[in-house]
Amino acid sequence: MNSNFDNFAKEELHEECGVFGIFSDGTINPAYACYNGLLALQHRGQESCGIAVADEGVIDYHKNMGLVSEVFNNAILDSLSGQMGLSHVRYSTAGGSVLENAQPLVMRYVKGTLAVAHNGNLTNAVEIRRTLEERGAIFQTTIDSEVICYLIARERLKCHTVEDAVARAMQQLEGAYSLLVMSPRKIIAARDPHGFKPLCMGKYNDSVVFASESCALDACGADFVRDIEPGEIVVVDNDGIRSIKPDFGDKKKAMCIFEYIYFARSDSNIDGVSVYEARKQAGRILARSFPVEADMVVGVPESGIDAAIGYSEESGIPYEKAIMKNSYIGRTFIKPTQKERMKSVRIKLNPIANMVKGKRVVIIDDSIVRGTTVDRIVTMLREAGAKEVHMRISSPPFLWPCYYGTDIPSRGELIACNHTIEEITKLSGADSLGYLPVESLHEMIGYAPVGFCDGCFTGNYPANITLEMFKGKERGGMEFKDKNN
Ligand code: AMP
Repeated sequence: MNSNFDNFAKEELHEECGVFGIFSDGTINPAYACYNGLLALQHRGQESCGIAVADEGVIDYHKNMGLVSEVFNNAILDSLSGQMGLSHVRYSTAGGSVLENAQPLVMRYVKGTLAVAHNGNLTNAVEIRRTLEERGAIFQTTIDSEVICYLIARERLKCHTVEDAVARAMQQLEGAYSLLVMSPRKIIAARDPHGFKPLCMGKYNDSVVFASESCALDACGADFVRDIEPGEIVVVDNDGIRSIKPDFGDKKKAMCIFEYIYFARSDSNIDGVSVYEARKQAGRILARSFPVEADMVVGVPESGIDAAIGYSEESGIPYEKAIMKNSYIGRTFIKPTQKERMKSVRIKLNPIANMVKGKRVVIIDDSIVRGTTVDRIVTMLREAGAKEVHMRISSPPFLWPCYYGTDIPSRGELIACNHTIEEITKLSGADSLGYLPVESLHEMIGYAPVGFCDGCFTGNYPANITLEMFKGKERGGMEFKDKNN
C-alpha cells in the first residue's frame, strides 16, 4: 500500500453531503439555480462546495473550501454559463478537509469530460481502489467518489452511453450513493439499490431539477415531482427524461433513519415522509414513554425543537424557547478535537436565564453521540437556575458506527457503548434521561412503507461491510454483525 492509499483507507470513511443538479429549458440559469439549491442544502455540509456547468459540450467548474455564500459571488456565477449544472456541498471528518477532495469531481478521459457529485459512503471503495491502483491507476483525491468516476470512465469505454456506464459501475459499487453525473450533453441521477441517501426530482417549467432534499427544490422555485427510487437511474437530455432500472437483485430498502432524526431539514419530505412530522412524532412518543411533571418543554436548537413541540402537544406541558442558538457558527462536529468541540458548544448555545430560573425543565435533543452536548446543556440550565432538568432524546442510543455516510464515530467514542443509561444520566447531571425506544422508529415515520436503515442503533447493517471498513471504526472487539441485503 502506498501512503496515498493509507490516507484513503484511514480518513475517508464518512461523507455527509448534499447534491443539486439541473437540466435547464433555458428559462433558468443553471449556475444560479445550483447556488440557490446549495444554500438550501448548506446544513448537509459546510466544508467545501462547488458548481460545474456544461455549455455546448464543454464542462467548466468552480469549487473551494468554505460556505456557499463565501465561495460564490455574482462574477463567479456569471462566468459559469451553460445549459445544465450540478453542484455539491461537502462535510467530512478531520484529515480529508482539503480542496482536492471538494466536489463536483471533474474528470477528463478518452471519451470527453465527466462531472460527478456524490453523497454517501461506498463500503467497498477501499478494495476497488486497491485493485485499480495495483493495475496502475492514479488517484488525485482521497475520497471514494473518485472511485465512482474511475469506474464510470472505464465502463464507458465498453458501452455506448454514459448511462449504461453508470449502470455497469453501479453493479460493482456497494454501500451508499446518491449520485449526479454530468456528461457534456446529459445529466444523470442515480440512487444506490438500498436507497440509503435521499435524492428527489423536481420541475421548473420544463427544466428538470435533482436535489438531495426537497427543500432545495423549493429554494429555486421548482415543484417536487417524485423521489428517485432505490436502484433507479434517471437520464435527462434534449430528448427528455428516461428512467432505467437495472437488475440489482433483491435489495432491502434502507433509507437512513437518521436523516429524519437529525440530518435533513424539517421542511423537506423524504420518500413521502415529512421530516418535521417525523420529528414531532418522536416527541409525542417520548412524552408517552417517559412522562414527567414539569413546567416547560424546551428543544435544543435546531433539531430538538420539532420533537419538543411534539412532546409539549402530547403532554400538555407548555413549549418554551429557552435556549438561544448562534446561527453564525458551523455545526459543532466540524471542530476536530474533543477540546475544540467543547468550546464550540459553549459559544453556540446559551439559555435565556430568566425563563428557566426555578423551573422544572424537560429538554429535548435529537441525539447523544459522545456526550459532549448533553453535558453542556444540563450544566447550562442548572447554572441558569433550573430546578429540575429532564433530558429526552428523540433517537435511540447510538451503539454502532455508521459505514454509509453519517458521521457516527467508532464504538469507543460512542458514550452509549461504554455506559449504561443510568450512568449517562449521572454523568450528564440530569434528573432523568429517556431515549426514543428503538422499536418506535416505525411509528416515528407514521408506519410509512419506507424500508429504513437503523444500523447505528441495532448493528443490523443492510449492505455488506468489508473487514477493512469494520476495523477502521471498531474498537473493543465486539461481535461483528453483518447482514447481507
Ligand atoms: P455529542 O455532543 O457528541 O453527544 O453529539 C450530540 C450532538 O451532536 C447533538 O446535539 C446532535 O444534534 C449533534 N449530532 C448528532 N449527530 C451528528 C452528526 N452526524 N453530525 C453532526 N452533528 C451531529
